[in-house]
Amino acid sequence: GSSVMWFRRDLRVRDNPALLAALDEGTVTALFVVDPAIWSTAGAARRAWLAANVLALAERIPLTIHHGDPRDVVPRVADGRRVHVSAETTPYGRRRDDAVAEKVELVATGSPYAVGPGRVRNGSGDPYQVFTAFARAWREHGWPEPAHTPRSPDIEQGDSHERALEELEKAVADAPFDLPPAGEEAAWRRWRAFRDDGLRDYPTERDRPDHDGTSRLSPYLHLGVIHPRSLLADMDTSSTYANEIAWREFYADVLWHTPASAWEDLKPALKAMAYDDPADAIEAWRTGTTGFPIVDAGMRQLLHSGWMHNRVRMITASFLTKDLHVWWPVGARHFLDLLIDGDVASNNHGWQWVAGTGTDASPYFRVFNPVTQGIKFDPQGDYVRRWVPELDHLPGKSAHEPWKSDVGYEQDYPLRIVDHADERREALERYQSARD
Ligand code: FAD
Repeated sequence: GSSVMWFRRDLRVRDNPALLAALDEGTVTALFVVDPAIWSTAGAARRAWLAANVLALAERIPLTIHHGDPRDVVPRVADGRRVHVSAETTPYGRRRDDAVAEKVELVATGSPYAVGPGRVRNGSGDPYQVFTAFARAWREHGWPEPAHTPRSPDIEQGDSHERALEELEKAVADAPFDLPPAGEEAAWRRWRAFRDDGLRDYPTERDRPDHDGTSRLSPYLHLGVIHPRSLLADMDTSSTYANEIAWREFYADVLWHTPASAWEDLKPALKAMAYDDPADAIEAWRTGTTGFPIVDAGMRQLLHSGWMHNRVRMITASFLTKDLHVWWPVGARHFLDLLIDGDVASNNHGWQWVAGTGTDASPYFRVFNPVTQGIKFDPQGDYVRRWVPELDHLPGKSAHEPWKSDVGYEQDYPLRIVDHADERREALERYQSARD
């Protein structure tokens, strides 16, 4: 027999149950489709990251690469054969797969998650609303052991579309900055290095943007270059790190149950909230020129590397929503355009958490102070100086408060665009009246 394995967010050979299901049927055509709906909306770094990982997969197995709407391309390549996939659970992915399934027999095995979104439920069969309860039930639910792929899988080379290959190669060449090494071997190297050197101190080091204390696996996890189940099988599942993996699973579960929460408030409590649309201030936020060093460092790390430390994602998101009073989707959109780990479930619910509209919303009166946060989590100012060269003459933590130094602005660093104390008060008043 013969079947098709259509790769999407599962760009790996190891521990890939969908690929195994396809191989069980005999010879496999391994297919990747450059989908214009995803491709043309992604920023240059995201395209480069995706392309590099598709090409890395093509070096491991014979990969047939096409360009076009999957609803046309997949049935044509399948030519009556069954098509295997790893289940996609985002709103776009579900719509696309439903449409493709009208034309071919689509068999979904596994998903980009240890436990498929929608599976962890409480005693009455309802989804969990808060993280801690979800995480407990998620651990109890458990997941299968990693699956072993045969050494030389029976995969045949099909005809690739020249234009699709060129497009991928061009995207890699056009990468706006250096990206992490692509491919599953690189992902595994990264994991093992972190497991051996970083995992033990992760609970305290993870909050330090000036240190390299997190795994940096998010871009690989996002594209399924490495699977969370493979990681969980290689660590203590009661660890802080496993708990972070559980957050990723939780947000995917929330999105599965409420697809509208991708771009709308999950909780209606703040429906009456008044928002602003200050074009200049939003632009200052995007370009890292707000005059608040930790905010600017984070926004520039995003612009110039396609990634941002978690603590700083929270600080910069709080600044946009609470100091500039901008509705969270504006910020979520910007992050998604630039992050190489940009993921609609984790990103948009992360934004909702900060904005106070999501699950486990941080209490609405919690407004991050960008200066004290900066000094607390980047105590020597190293992170700020790394990303904001206009402050590199200010030693130690003084880089967080250029306004306190006689020479603070001598390299043309911008003045603060708002007064944090005033905007904090304003945010609290708006929240209060939205809730009245
Ligand atoms: P580690 O600390 O090493 O964590 C390991 C893994 O756990 C991560 O790779 C990630 O898959 C998962 N994880 C950790 N923290 C979270 C979290 N809070 N929510 C969900 N999963 C988590 N993560 C994304 O993968 N994509 C996004 O688009 C994204 N956008 C975010 C936007 C905002 C406003 C906030 C506050 C958080 C966002 N996160 C997002 C979560 C988190 O910031 C990143 O997962 C993390 O910084 C990735 O770096 P790492 O791999 O070194 O993380």
